[in-house]
Amino acid sequence: MEMRSLIPGFASEVKGFLAEEEGLRLFELALEACSLGPCLEIGSFCGKSAVYLGIACKIKERTLFTVDHHRGSEEQQPGQSYFDADLFDSNTGLIDSFQYFRATIQKAELEEVVVPMITRSHVAAKDWATPLGLVFIDGGHSYETVLTDYKCWCPHLLPGGFLVFHDIFLDSAEGGQAPLEVYKEALASGRFEELPMTKTLGVLRLCKPVVVKKQARSRHGS
Ligand code: MG
Repeated sequence: MEMRSLIPGFASEVKGFLAEEEGLRLFELALEACSLGPCLEIGSFCGKSAVYLGIACKIKERTLFTVDHHRGSEEQQPGQSYFDADLFDSNTGLIDSFQYFRATIQKAELEEVVVPMITRSHVAAKDWATPLGLVFIDGGHSYETVLTDYKCWCPHLLPGGFLVFHDIFLDSAEGGQAPLEVYKEALASGRFEELPMTKTLGVLRLCKPVVVKKQARSRHGS
């Protein structure tokens, strides 16, 4: 059976900023990553990417961990450009995307697959010890935040695993440059192989350690 047919049709209609093509790429990457370990995403919002990643994890009997404080990013606050009144909780006066996230996960029948962590990325990472097959960074888009996400989670990535960034804008006229800067830093570390992008999805694969053969006995004798 075509695996993609298992992705529910409503996935592309969930509130969010992920193109369908990007979602399908995440799905394919997660299918492969699950042979190594579980997947983790930072920045879940209403669960759109979690459906694509989560269905792949379900097929492979793996877990998807999600990290989001669910209070919205800077630009989603009242009065800001991406404010969405549907997500405003008038009881607390705060954004609450978790109710939408939860409904999405339930609708996609992923409650036995997705483990949400409702907190900030560095808090979730503090005592983390599980090696990961895929890390998807799509949280806050300031340089400091993206860098923190990279530094917190990259050490948990398994060799051969995927480090995926959303919102990589090669042209600064199209969007903020922080994810691209951190993506470039990761690449400059020499530890990653760059794979083709899908729209604004930047995909790196952690290189497997080079096995250095034991040097034959030195010929530089006397
Ligand atoms: Mg994004």
